[in-house]
Amino acid sequence: MKNLDTRIVVITGGSKGIGRSVAYKFAEEKARIILAHNDADDSASQETLDNLAHKGVEADAHRVDVSSFGAVDLLFKEIFSKFERVDVLINNAGITRDTLLMRMNEEDWDSVLNVNLKGVFNCTRAVVRSMIKERRGRIVNISSVVGQIGNAGQANYSASKAGIIGFTKTAAKELAGRSITVNGVAPGFIDTEMTAVLSEKVKESFLRQIPSGRMGKPEEVAEAVYWLCSDAASYVTGQIIHVNGGMYM
Ligand code: NAP
Repeated sequence: MKNLDTRIVVITGGSKGIGRSVAYKFAEEKARIILAHNDADDSASQETLDNLAHKGVEADAHRVDVSSFGAVDLLFKEIFSKFERVDVLINNAGITRDTLLMRMNEEDWDSVLNVNLKGVFNCTRAVVRSMIKERRGRIVNISSVVGQIGNAGQANYSASKAGIIGFTKTAAKELAGRSITVNGVAPGFIDTEMTAVLSEKVKESFLRQIPSGRMGKPEEVAEAVYWLCSDAASYVTGQIIHVNGGMYM
């Protein structure tokens, strides 16, 4: 008999930043958490796992590049053989390769589209059959405010994040009849390693665009993600929730 009370939650990019905060949020319900990350240095994922263990939560981390269809397929085969299902998929892994269009090369474009957008397809594709069979499931895709408003120097990134919005709405339409919801969360300017590398000038220009007058915290994004995966949001699908301090309304 399956234990449906403990949700099986897969979080890509769960080793740090927003993904880590999402993992800590799911730890509150004692979900079974599976993290995926790509860096050979696994110190961040180990720290996340240690903190989850401290909270009494069973979790493991896998090194997998979400842009590889084959590697993702293998990971999910392993997950299904162990847990038989996935209840929640958080497509959060993402990278930036910022530069103005004039200087953007093919590799800058391909790597960002492959990780940020193809990665969402790869992971979603890997779970849908099982979710359809189970007639339940929650998928949350992490987009970005720049997928809506664009941003100089981020043609690749904003295209990938806009693509996620179209993908989310389409998947939501295809899967709603099977009690599977698919939503997006579009964070604004959030305090993580991704934004720590930006120059002070760029940070100041972002801050000037935020009515709340501050960066967001990863935990503030995690709250929205978690709510979308709760029973309270059972009739919410195909939506993009903006968590951005008013940066885009
Ligand atoms: P982060 O701190 O840089 O974390 C990124 C995560 O993605 C890490 O766990 C990283 O693991 C993983 N990752 C990167 N490439 C991967 C790959 N090929 N395969 C598997 N995992 C991979 O970034 P963050 O700020 O938390 O961002 C999380 C998500 O939110 C991203 O999709 C990002 O685009 C989006 N977002 C962030 C902001 C912001 O202001 N921070 C705003 C809007 C949207 P490894 O390091 O081990 O590869």
